[in-house]
Amino acid sequence: MKNIILLGPPGAGKGTQARSLSDKYGFVQLSTGDMLREAKKDKSKLGLKVSNIMAKGELVTDEIVIDLIKKKIINTTNNKGFIFDGFPRTLAQADALGNLLNKVNQVLDYVIEMYVDDDKLVQRITGRFSCSSCGELYHKITKIPKKTGICDVCGSIDKFKFRQDDNEDSLKTRLLAYYRDTSPLIGYYYALKKLKKVNGLGSINEIQDAIRNIII
Ligand code: AMP
Repeated sequence: MKNIILLGPPGAGKGTQARSLSDKYGFVQLSTGDMLREAKKDKSKLGLKVSNIMAKGELVTDEIVIDLIKKKIINTTNNKGFIFDGFPRTLAQADALGNLLNKVNQVLDYVIEMYVDDDKLVQRITGRFSCSSCGELYHKITKIPKKTGICDVCGSIDKFKFRQDDNEDSLKTRLLAYYRDTSPLIGYYYALKKLKKVNGLGSINEIQDAIRNIII
């Protein structure tokens, strides 16, 4: 069993890699962004509460995301481990995650920092979209569906959608939040001897090989 964090700015490719590694190796992907988007879609109390914050690109409170992760860690029985994608994003979240794993007698194995230049992030983020039926991620330049309008994975027709927060204004705020609140985690996990670095600029397969060489 391995527990892994993918750490990096918005657009670094965390979601794409987490999804693919989970499919191939049986990890359970825990993405707080996906969980919050689900809550928004269901129009739950939580969804309504976080909707504006997410649209602006700000971070939701530690309390909310820690609670979401806590429920998943406690209720998931799997022997392959978790891939955390988009969590933790603050030092308080990192501390909470350490405590939660400890409680269920698990450890964190690797934190993989995916680094990418900021100007590349804008290009990546403004071109991405996903299938609203199965969640498969695409990009208008680097990963286009084989048949226009049809999802490669589930075959849904015209179900592609862009994220509300994938625009330049919100991206500025998200990058600021990354450098201010999340990047200190690089030093934190370096000190704990968990940190590995992967260049997030290659092709999806190249990056996946680099990650696989570390974790498998
Ligand atoms: P993501 O899909 O990871 O880019 O997350 C989308 C948005 O959800 C972020 O811009 C935040 O508003 C919120 N969010 C996701 N994960 C977290 C987290 N761990 N802490 C705080 N806010 C989060």
